[in-house]
Amino acid sequence: MFNVKEIRKDFPILKREVNGKPLVYLDNAATSQTPKQVIDVITDYYQNYNANIHRGVHALSQEATDKYEEARNKIQQHFNAAKAHEIIFTSGTTHSINIVANGFSSLIQKGDEILVSAMEHHSNIVPWQMLSERTGAVLKVIPMNQKGELQMDVYDKLLSDKTKLVFCNHISNALGTINPIEEIITKAHNVGAAVLIDGAQAAPHLVADVQKLDVDFYAISAHKVCGPTGVGMLYGKEKWLNKLPPYQGGGEMIAEVTFEKTTYANLPHKFEAGTPNICGGIAFGAALDYMNKIGFEAIANYEYELLEYATEELLKIDGLKIYGTAKNKTSVISFNIDGVHPYDIGSILDKLGIAVRTGHHCAQPIMDFYKIPGTVRASFSFYNTIEEVDVLVAGVNRAKNMLL
Ligand code: PLP
Repeated sequence: MFNVKEIRKDFPILKREVNGKPLVYLDNAATSQTPKQVIDVITDYYQNYNANIHRGVHALSQEATDKYEEARNKIQQHFNAAKAHEIIFTSGTTHSINIVANGFSSLIQKGDEILVSAMEHHSNIVPWQMLSERTGAVLKVIPMNQKGELQMDVYDKLLSDKTKLVFCNHISNALGTINPIEEIITKAHNVGAAVLIDGAQAAPHLVADVQKLDVDFYAISAHKVCGPTGVGMLYGKEKWLNKLPPYQGGGEMIAEVTFEKTTYANLPHKFEAGTPNICGGIAFGAALDYMNKIGFEAIANYEYELLEYATEELLKIDGLKIYGTAKNKTSVISFNIDGVHPYDIGSILDKLGIAVRTGHHCAQPIMDFYKIPGTVRASFSFYNTIEEVDVLVAGVNRAKNMLL
């Protein structure tokens, strides 16, 4: 049974105060909080078996290696990847996307087309712009409508045999839209294009089955799923990962090195140069264990209740407008109040102990689309409560009265 009161006991940080008020943490789309089950795994690593992996014959190194590879297996199972070596440990979604964008430099030619959705995080725009500058490939945008839904009829028209790559987020960080990625992937494959899905915002809310989706690449960050910062995953189909050249050179990623020539290690090590975030990888596995124990279905159902209630209550505030009203959306609410700058609302909420994000949320093209400087974004997790939604709504009302 899902019991939010019990779940909150797992998160030490939720007990703290900010500016003399109980913390109401509603910036989960930026970073989720960490339960003690994961903090304990981090402490255990540094207290008991901190060592470099894949290299040592000694016991600590072996233990650390086993736990790190065990975490890779957990991640493989979670996303139902066919093989453990299709899971590459990275520093996060941004790093994962850069591995693919860099690798495609040798597979893309001048005049080829790459498609991006209009609602991407900068992490899923800039690496592809850099790719297009390097190669002469043409970057085209799948537009969205006022609700923040992709215009799939235009997508159909943009696809052609020139399309080599399509990249899109599973869920938008600024709007909460859940994109129809099954359809996006199938249609891209019909013209022979590869697809990268940025799963950074989806991973905290649902489980993507990469084989069922038939997706070519899927990227996530551990810090959005109750894990630590500085670690994440790139899933890639074996056939693609074998085609792509390594992103970084260094230790761990080689088979043999002479001054004349280097040959590269097999997957996944080819893409894991240098000493990785060993503890982070192990804690990433523990974070998925923690969330799976609660259950993603229960998480999604509860977060949907929070979303519906918060949407209803916020819309009672005169002059408040929500950006991102897609039919399929997750627990993210981006809003503004007529005549008030989002930053001012965020600053007043902070004084009340309420953490929200303000600004363009690393998605400036979305703000340009709506012709706004930014929004206030409240993003809810499974450890938030209905009472916290009430505190948010009261805080926004108070900010509005102070600022207008
Ligand atoms: N993509 C999306 C949709 C995101 O929301 C984020 C982070 O907010 C990123 C990519 C970048 O993630 P990271 O900074 O962990 O690499």
